[in-house]
Amino acid sequence: MTGSTQVTPILIRGGRVYDHDGDIHQPAQADILIHGERIERIGPNLAVEDGVEIIDAVGKLVVPGFVNAHYHSHDVMAKGLFEEMPFDIWTLHSNPANYGPRALKEVRLRTLVGAAEQLRNGITTIQDFLTLVPQDEALVDTVLSAYEEAGVRVVFAVAARDRAALDIAPFMPRDLPEAVRKRIAGSDRKASDELEFIAAQIKRLGLKPTPLQTWALAPSAPQRCSQELLEGIAALSREHELPVFTHVYETRIQAAAARQQPAAPSHLDILARAGLMNERLNIVHGVWLTAHDIAQIAEAGARVVHNPVSNLKLKSGIAPILDLYRAGIDVALGCDNYSCAETQNIFIAMRMLCLLPAVTDPEPHPVHAAYALKAATVMGARAVGLEDKIGALKPGMTADLMILDLNEPAFVPFNSAARQIVFSEAGRAIETVLVGGRPVVRNGKLVTVDEAALAAAVEEIAPAFRRDAQTLATRNADLTAPLLNANREAWKVSLGFERYIGRGTS
Ligand SMILES: [Zn+2]
Repeated sequence: MTGSTQVTPILIRGGRVYDHDGDIHQPAQADILIHGERIERIGPNLAVEDGVEIIDAVGKLVVPGFVNAHYHSHDVMAKGLFEEMPFDIWTLHSNPANYGPRALKEVRLRTLVGAAEQLRNGITTIQDFLTLVPQDEALVDTVLSAYEEAGVRVVFAVAARDRAALDIAPFMPRDLPEAVRKRIAGSDRKASDELEFIAAQIKRLGLKPTPLQTWALAPSAPQRCSQELLEGIAALSREHELPVFTHVYETRIQAAAARQQPAAPSHLDILARAGLMNERLNIVHGVWLTAHDIAQIAEAGARVVHNPVSNLKLKSGIAPILDLYRAGIDVALGCDNYSCAETQNIFIAMRMLCLLPAVTDPEPHPVHAAYALKAATVMGARAVGLEDKIGALKPGMTADLMILDLNEPAFVPFNSAARQIVFSEAGRAIETVLVGGRPVVRNGKLVTVDEAALAAAVEEIAPAFRRDAQTLATRNADLTAPLLNANREAWKVSLGFERYIGRGTS
């Protein structure tokens, strides 16, 4: 095991150190002394001790590492395979349950590829919301050891779900052939099996499987979980003080379906009844939250994880960012699945966070670049329950950071650190990345994983995965038209608010 306690002390010398509370445009120059995993001191001209590695950062910008607060490592192999698929159709094509068990070799390689891109893009903490098929200890160990190999921090969660039906099921015509209906309905599982597996893994591996690994809980969505399952997750969260992530109102269909069930009108009420509506809860997506829902989230001290790219690629709509901001709700950022967003890049997510509000609101707004940088770091840290360790560069905090070369065109001329990180940069300026005080990227390349060898190994197994995806696509072909029709049916349910603009007005 590569414990981060064994790393050489490091002095990052002469860089401009980004401070959320300091000069966000022209950060002051300072040295950063790192001992073990922690930042020991930050200040000008720190003395050089014996045995310290010096990283020269003159002409460079030192920025806290990003938290990717929503990611699923299970479909890395499906990157680039799909396009123009609204959410429920995409689900049919991407759900791991439809692919069956994968070889441990594939699981290791896909986890490494995801970790590699994220580290290269300055993401030092990954919240992996992983669907395991089957739920098997060997898969958990394979994924965690791949993350350890890459040297990235991971907040790991095994997705839990006992109701298998597609979210769109309530809008499907009743006269579908039985075989088609079965594919929409899927096979339900037992809440107790889901809970026992997750509890057993936490017990077996401990609350901190390695120095860089902690747990989260991931009930897939309120409509995909029974009350028993949600209550069990709430109990685990209370017992171990674990953050909870769950998809809520990602699509209009989900909100419309909730309206049609008078017994359970609000997915937030379902979460509240299960004991999940508290400061450990992270609402993922939240595109179709009402004003009442937003007040309820603020009241509970829960957060929202914004995934702007997948929301657009799957045609889910635009989350009410300004309303969340005005309600004082933390917004963390996620990049979601590879098969519906294609890249793990928080620079793009930050940019979209700042730009998307203009789609619905022409007034100047307060979601500025500096706010986006907080969303990507401190708010992400709170989302994953690590706010005491990561998200800012301060003495006592863990050294999770990136060093950007200010000679890159994105930063020339250097007028504003915050604005150019958010609006100009996409990751190319990243030279060095540290996680837990250990350099994992140097000169823009991973030092923990041989990237060329990894690419070659993935190319060997990729044709077989593409064949499986093609087989599934062929099997799903007859469902596309009925699903699109059901989508249109759901449009007839009035929600009283919109997340698309200009629709039907021309
Ligand atoms: Zn997701």
